Parts: sequence; structure tokens; C-alpha cells
Amino acid sequence: MLTKALDASISGVIITDNQQPDNPIIYCNKAFETISGYGRDEIIGHNCRFLQKEDRQQPQRKALADAIKNGESISVEIRNYRKDGTLFWNELNMSPIKDDRGKTCYFIGVQNDVTRRKKAELDLQHQKDVMERKVEERTRSLRENEEYLASIVQTVRESLVVLNPDLKVLSVNDHFIKTFKVTREETEGALLYELGNGQWNIPRLKELLESILPTNNPVLEFEVEHDFPHIGKKLMLVNAHRVELEGQYRDRILIAIEDVTDRREIERRKDDFLSIASHELKTPLTTIKGYVQLMHKLMPEDIGEKFKEILRKTGLYVERLNTLIAELLDVSRIQTGNIELHREQFNFDKMVYETVENMQAAQQSHQIIISGNAAETYFGDESHIVQVVNNLISNAIKYSPDATEVEVHLSRVANYIKLSVKDKGMGISPEYHKRIFERFYRVGEIQQRFPGMGIGLYICDQIIKNHGGTLWVESELGKGSTFSFTLPMQERTPNEQ
Ligand code: ADP
Repeated sequence: MLTKALDASISGVIITDNQQPDNPIIYCNKAFETISGYGRDEIIGHNCRFLQKEDRQQPQRKALADAIKNGESISVEIRNYRKDGTLFWNELNMSPIKDDRGKTCYFIGVQNDVTRRKKAELDLQHQKDVMERKVEERTRSLRENEEYLASIVQTVRESLVVLNPDLKVLSVNDHFIKTFKVTREETEGALLYELGNGQWNIPRLKELLESILPTNNPVLEFEVEHDFPHIGKKLMLVNAHRVELEGQYRDRILIAIEDVTDRREIERRKDDFLSIASHELKTPLTTIKGYVQLMHKLMPEDIGEKFKEILRKTGLYVERLNTLIAELLDVSRIQTGNIELHREQFNFDKMVYETVENMQAAQQSHQIIISGNAAETYFGDESHIVQVVNNLISNAIKYSPDATEVEVHLSRVANYIKLSVKDKGMGISPEYHKRIFERFYRVGEIQQRFPGMGIGLYICDQIIKNHGGTLWVESELGKGSTFSFTLPMQERTPNEQ
């Protein structure tokens, strides 16, 4: 019954006799034959090692030999080979059978073919290895990216702060620490408004920062002038954006702070110089102008033509110099906010027609064609508007040396006066359409060919803005430009100035 029971088992069972040399197998059940592919005749009398064929280097073999030598139980998973040479994983449990004196007489080996499980395990392990390698690679590249970003963040010459949605400082870069002479410990983790002596606790800034996350609207060029702890009075320019990673907005705010104290100081000095220089130049020029007028008056009747011509030209150049200096003075007045408007009621159309007439009189190269009507009465600073019209027409002529015409068109659009000056000159490429209205800005290529200081349009823009209007350009490179402005018509009386 026992033998039958053993033969019915699906586990292979063998018994080895350890009292005989080389521990031969003295019994095997049916399942063992099935698992190994050998017949009972080929099994009995052999040492178990025939199951490993040439695969002798497995560490499990040494463990088995030690257990058998010491008469101990052991469980191993070992590579075995069937009679036909195919591999199978054998889960082998060996238990000693000892006599009364404790001497090991036999070993019973119970085995199961766990090839399938083993293969699944090995596949799993392989997958795990592949995954681990991938994770490792990805981590390395992430770390590299992080280091790369960190090195940029640490090198930029701007102070950077990252905030969480509660406006708590998550991190700052080295430049921030150096600029504000603070420690990382006192900064990171604190609320932005609690830093230093409350320099960022400005209601308007707070409002703007708090609306970044809900609206995605950045804070641009916000100026903070403050007496900072450790570093004193400084002017800081603040820009803040919502952090965007791989096209996704995060709940983080990045603030970039730039110390513009020195830059502003240099600009201020330049403005001061401009203002002083133009004032200093104006005084002797006024005297020269007076003398030229006096010479005109005192000129004897019979004076030679040559002398008359020289005097006329002198007057012309003095006038040109006067305009240039007046423009410089205008710029410095605009800078200091000292430009005054003297508003009066005047006939706008008449003013434009007269200005064109005067310009045409002093102008041979181009014909100035004027058309349209805008308004007979307008309330504004006439001399300033004349300056704008003058400037736009002068530019149109100056920058269209190969053309012969310039068009001026007046119209009324809704409640606005509109004036356009159109030339068929060199034109301006789109990237400069905004910049030409900045002071001292001139489009690079024309610097040498045409004289100028790059302030005309700046002044025009300011004058039009002061009247509540807008000035703009439409232009295509090589085709010509049209400068236009609109001015709102206001029903005002002079008392309302
Ligand atoms: P300036 O003429 O003294 O340089 P402006 O402020 O009047 O200064 O003009 C600024 C710049 O705008 C000029 O240098 C020129 O590059 C460009 N610009 C102005 N008007 C025209 C125009 N009609 N056609 C082409 N470029 C123009």
C-alpha cells in the first residue's frame, strides 16, 4: 500500500543509501521517472549527480553535498536535466534518516518540477532588472537636467524666488542670498511679506501676486523702492510668472528680482547732463540768433548778393540748431515730467494746411499733397501739435529720398480727429514698429545715411499721449510708411484746463 501510495504522488521521491559508497539511489517512485524521463532501471544504483549532467558549477550542489555530509535537511532549487537533455528546475527537499546512534543511514529526496514557476520568476526578475535599469537611466537623466537647471538658476545675475500658492518662499537662488545679505534659513519657509522689514508687503504687489495663479497674468516690471535691511535704499524691478513645466501650469510662482538702482542712477545722470547741456547751449544760441537778426536789419542796401546769401544760410542753420536744442530740452522736460500743455481752442484743419504750406515753401525735393478735413475747432496745445505734424512730414521726406511725393490726409473718425502722413520711402520692418517711439532709438541701418538723434518720434508720441490720443505706424520694408495719430475731440472750454 505504501509503495502504491508513493507511486500515486505527483512529487518525485527517491531514497539514497548513505551507508554505501557514493550514496546510490535505492528507491524512486513513478513520478520521479516521469519528471526525469529515466526508467527505474537507469536510476537505481546511481548517485543523484547524473541529473545535473555537465551543469556542475551550480552553488546549490555544494550546499547539497555539505548537508548530506553533515546529515542535515536541505531545500534547494537546482537545475536538472531530463534524459532527453531538456532542462527542468527541480525543487528538492532532502531529509536524513538516522539510526539509534544518530548516524545518517538514508536520505529521502522529494522533488517537484517547478520549471514553469521558475521561468515565470526568472521572467519577472528580468522584467524587474529592465525596469530598474530604465528607472536608473531616467533618474540619472532627471538628475542631470536638475543639475543643469540648478546651475543656470545659481548663475543668473537675477534674484529668483519660488513661492507656493500661499506665497510662502519655497526656495531662493544664491544671487538672492548675496543681494539681500540674508541667510537661506531665515528666508526659505517664510511668507514673502514677512521677509526683511516688510519690503514686499505692498498692497498692490500683493494683489498682483495673488491673481497670478487664478488668472495666469504675470506681474511685469513692478518697481519697489525701499530701504532694505543690510543693503539700504534700493530700487528693485520685480517680474513674476506662474511656473509652467512641459506645457502644464503648476501651483508655483517664480519671481525674478533685479536691482536697477545703479542703472537708474546712470540714466538720471544722463538726463541731468542732457538737461544742463541743452540749457547751456540755448543761451549763447539765443544771442547768436539775435545778432543774425540784427545783421539782417542793419544790412546796407547796396550789399553784395554773396553776403546776403551767406547771411540767409547762417539764419537757416541757426534756426536748425535752435530746433535741435529745443527738441533736446523737450526730451529732458518729458523725462522730468515738466512738459506743460497750453490748451486753447484753435482751427485744426487750418493749422495743418498752414503747416504744410510753410513746409512746402522751404522744400523742393518733394510735393506735399494734402487732402480731407477733420475739425475746425479743437481744444489743445497748438504749437505742440504743429511740432508733431512738422516732425512726421520731415521724417516722411527724409526717409524717402527717391520719392517725390508725401501725402497728408485729414479725416474725422467717430469722435476722433485722424491725421496720416504717408510716404513711399524705405519703410520700417515690423520688429521696429514699437521701438522707434522710444527716445534715442534709430533703426540700425540708417544711422550713417540720415542725420538725426532719434528723439522726434518720442516727443511726438508723448505730445499725442498728453492729448489723450495715440500715434502709430503701418509700414512695410521697402514700400513706405504711414504714420497716423488720432486725437479725441473734447467739448471743453478754456477754463477746464
Ligand atoms: P530721427 O529721425 O532723428 O532718427 P525719429 O524719432 O524721428 O528720429 O525717428 C526714429 C527712427 O524711426 C528713425 O531713425 C528711423 O529709423 C525711423 N523712421 C521714422 N520715420 C520714418 C519714415 N517715415 N520712414 C522710415 N523710417 C522712419
